[in-house]
Amino acid sequence: MKTTPTSILAVTLFCLSTISSGSRATAQRSADSSAGARADLVLTNGRVWPGGDSTSFAESVAIRGNQIVRVGPAAEIKQLIDERTRVVDLGGKLVTPGFNDAHIHFLSGALGLDEIDLTGAVTVAEMVERIAAYARDNPGKQRVTGRGWIYTPFPGGLPTKTYLDAVIKDRPVFLRAYDGHSGWANTKALQLAEITRDTKFDGYGEVVRNASGEPTGALKEGAQRLVSRLIPEPARDRKLAALRQGMELAASLGVTSIQNAGGSPEEFSLYEELLKRGELTMRVSMAFSVDARTTRQEIDRFLALKNQYDLNPILRANSVKFMLDGVIESHTAAVLERYSDLAPEHAAPFGELAIPADVYRDLVARLDKAGFQICTHAIGDRAAREALKAYEDALDANKRSNARHRIEHIEIISPEDIPRFARLGVMASMEPIHADPSTIDVWSRAVGVERLKYAFAWRSLLMGGARLVFGSDWPAAISLDPIRGLHVAVNRRRVDGQPRRGWVAEQRVSIGDALRAYTQAGAYSSFEEAIKGRIAPGMLADIVVLSQDLFKLNPMRIQETSVAMTVFDGKVVYQEGGK
Ligand SMILES: [Zn+2]
Repeated sequence: MKTTPTSILAVTLFCLSTISSGSRATAQRSADSSAGARADLVLTNGRVWPGGDSTSFAESVAIRGNQIVRVGPAAEIKQLIDERTRVVDLGGKLVTPGFNDAHIHFLSGALGLDEIDLTGAVTVAEMVERIAAYARDNPGKQRVTGRGWIYTPFPGGLPTKTYLDAVIKDRPVFLRAYDGHSGWANTKALQLAEITRDTKFDGYGEVVRNASGEPTGALKEGAQRLVSRLIPEPARDRKLAALRQGMELAASLGVTSIQNAGGSPEEFSLYEELLKRGELTMRVSMAFSVDARTTRQEIDRFLALKNQYDLNPILRANSVKFMLDGVIESHTAAVLERYSDLAPEHAAPFGELAIPADVYRDLVARLDKAGFQICTHAIGDRAAREALKAYEDALDANKRSNARHRIEHIEIISPEDIPRFARLGVMASMEPIHADPSTIDVWSRAVGVERLKYAFAWRSLLMGGARLVFGSDWPAAISLDPIRGLHVAVNRRRVDGQPRRGWVAEQRVSIGDALRAYTQAGAYSSFEEAIKGRIAPGMLADIVVLSQDLFKLNPMRIQETSVAMTVFDGKVVYQEGGK
């Protein structure tokens, strides 16, 4: 982070002197408003969008401690200013509630910050160039790891080891696709993992082979473990350092809350440690990963942590997360109609569920009964239908209200299933960046034109009464920047403006709906809508100041917006250009 003073800071100091002296004259009046009313931090002369359903804007916000104490006209807020108040003149900038990322894999994203990053590389040549450069710059790294490759530029949609062997022969290389569902290994990595033409893999996934039976270096889903298990687990200190680095990035992007989509009690303990040290600069709610092998003892442990942190405003563990299918691009998502680019005689032309449906339903019923919020990764329309069915059965059996179960991703959905979200109170948790038209070619071919109408069907789900909540899926997406997400949510166009009319443009949402999905809906998703997600008196002071007014802007310019300031729990945790 740079340390040069910024214009905001300069304005702050200027206002601090002018407004503070004025406030002494009005001290008499402020005394009678609310007892001991004074503010620690005042953001004034902005356009404050309070969030929720509000369509009116305020000028100023006053914060005391970690709470918002008043929102209103600058003249009124002025009464809460005394000589110790930090006053920030916003110069008309937009203020919104802090962003909530409802689906993120924060630790793996943070750990990846110093690995090879293939994000944004759109040709094979570009990827190979970055890999070669990284290898040159990191001669001491015994294993070369990274992620971010997209399927589109490779013939057949999957990379092969030969590209990697051409630049790195002596060290193993393992690179995950941007979505994390496929891996790309060089010959050295395959050798160390003892993957040969005779290797059998019968888990969920595939060792991809060429026509002569030779492994190509591409590994789908669980088959990635054959190579990734050779990469040693980073030490605890390294993980803590990565989380700190990741939180700095999150703060710079206005993210003040996350729901971590899957993890273990060990991962949770990293956040516990940061909480105890007062180092968390975002609210974290954890979903523990569950699958068919999860034991009763493990569930008891999740439950103990859930109860222990039940009312903690910074760290929580209310949820569990299932992976019910894979992804469209590698044909592992479970779909109702055959993949458009697969022949009927293909071994799995409909993809498949990652867990047998009856096992999944049984687990959902038990976890619902235990009081967990359940999140299910379901990308294909068949997986989404199975998840809805399991939730419906569990809710019928256990008669629980307010469970707020969620389905994650929902990349394609059958229109008949859309009304079931509202009826069952199931949240639609989706990531706009996954619909960025620059990464959608292989996806579109597999889905085919018939199903496109309900591709990332944000508008249809909203119109059908579903609660829509947005996240990034970082690092299984090119960025955790909510501004990038807002850009795609509102435009469904690439950053260069293509396609002109938008990709499946009927599923776009308004900027208000998109912002709600990044703020209030996130708070609702973690059962905290009474304390955060809006800018109103009594709410936790998580606030973002943006460089441009998203409500007035030509939507194609949303992408040019930057975060000017992030306030978390009443404290300024990021300021553009340094603190
Ligand atoms: Zn995910």
